[in-house]
Amino acid sequence: MARCLIGCGSNLGRPRQHLADALDLLRTMPGVTLLAASRPRETRAVGGPPGQGTVLNGAVLVDTELSPDDVLGMLTAIENTLHRERTERWGPRTIDLDLLLYDNAAFDRDGLTVPHPRMTTRRFVLEPCVEIAPDFIHPLAGCTVRELLDNISRPHPHVAVIGVPGSGAPEVAAHVADTLLARLLHAPAAVPTPDDRPDYARRWEKSLAASAAAVSAETWPQDPHGTVADFWLDTFLVAAEERLPEADATFARIAGNAVTPNVGILLVASAAELEERLAFRQRRPAPQTDTFADLSATTTALTEVTPAGTAGTVRTLVSLQERLRRRLLSPRNDAPGRPKSVVVVEADDLGQAMGEAVAAVEAMV
Ligand code: ATP
Ligand code: CA
Ligand code: CA
Repeated sequence: MARCLIGCGSNLGRPRQHLADALDLLRTMPGVTLLAASRPRETRAVGGPPGQGTVLNGAVLVDTELSPDDVLGMLTAIENTLHRERTERWGPRTIDLDLLLYDNAAFDRDGLTVPHPRMTTRRFVLEPCVEIAPDFIHPLAGCTVRELLDNISRPHPHVAVIGVPGSGAPEVAAHVADTLLARLLHAPAAVPTPDDRPDYARRWEKSLAASAAAVSAETWPQDPHGTVADFWLDTFLVAAEERLPEADATFARIAGNAVTPNVGILLVASAAELEERLAFRQRRPAPQTDTFADLSATTTALTEVTPAGTAGTVRTLVSLQERLRRRLLSPRNDAPGRPKSVVVVEADDLGQAMGEAVAAVEAMV
């Protein structure tokens, strides 16, 4: 028997009726016991095409004997019964049913990701969840849904756009900060990727110190619009892994007083796209363009030491990206320094990545 939270939304036709119908159908499903349903609440549509009607949102708590895949299959069947049509991404719908949490399951497969990958920044999801199951633990965040709601309710939210050089983190962060009128905090220094030069430890420590000073709790401002940073200190730890045995201790000493981001937006680019951006950057060095400027430092550092050239640089970036993903998304996140809320955004299409990042952050309001 597993306990699940299911999110419901409707903004087409007769939303109140569709939500009620979905509940009725859920009640009749074999292997499913409905424990609680939140009251429906009206929220504005986030992220989709403009001009959509407000959305009626709610959440449902159930016990079930079904597997996660079978729960999703059942939800899709109910959506089909209620004439859900899939055209545009985040377009208007008669009913949308998402599997938010399934016990403490955490997996990411083709077609099904649990916990629901975008729930932790969505006020319209977390509020109804807190109404019916405040103590349900989100296995990746390592905290309850109530704490996740508190996390996005801070008066001065700190959002970090995180990615390897070339992922577009500076570009996406600038765009998100612009839309929110938030303060933009640019990385004061690039993260030196591990290399074999003898002064690696010193350069790593120097860049870390500069970056830590920018997010020190002592100088953190309390302005109401929040901060969007295009870096996250733990990237230093991830980069130094296996290269600097003393990294943990040095990190604790230098970065111990840093403000942890409430939300991390992790940009993930493909190897092919990173390679293309490297080539672009080499053809057009500064001052011709600022785009992917963060690749310049990395390329210079790496081509000096990587005999494999571009291919070697791309391999280094991809491996760093994978370790970043693991650090941010492995279960039981109660480590200090790790954002409670992490949203992964595909970064091969920068315009689309900006749209997704803005949608994730706008959903906090
Ligand atoms: P969002 O997922 O951002 O809330 P949406 O609900 O509008 O957007 P859909 O078009 O309903 O997105 O779903 C797209 C796909 O997401 C589905 O085909 C489904 O396979 C997949 N999916 C992956 N994980 C889940 C999950 N936990 N719950 C529901 N659908 C999921
Ligand atoms: Ca949804
Ligand atoms: Ca859905």
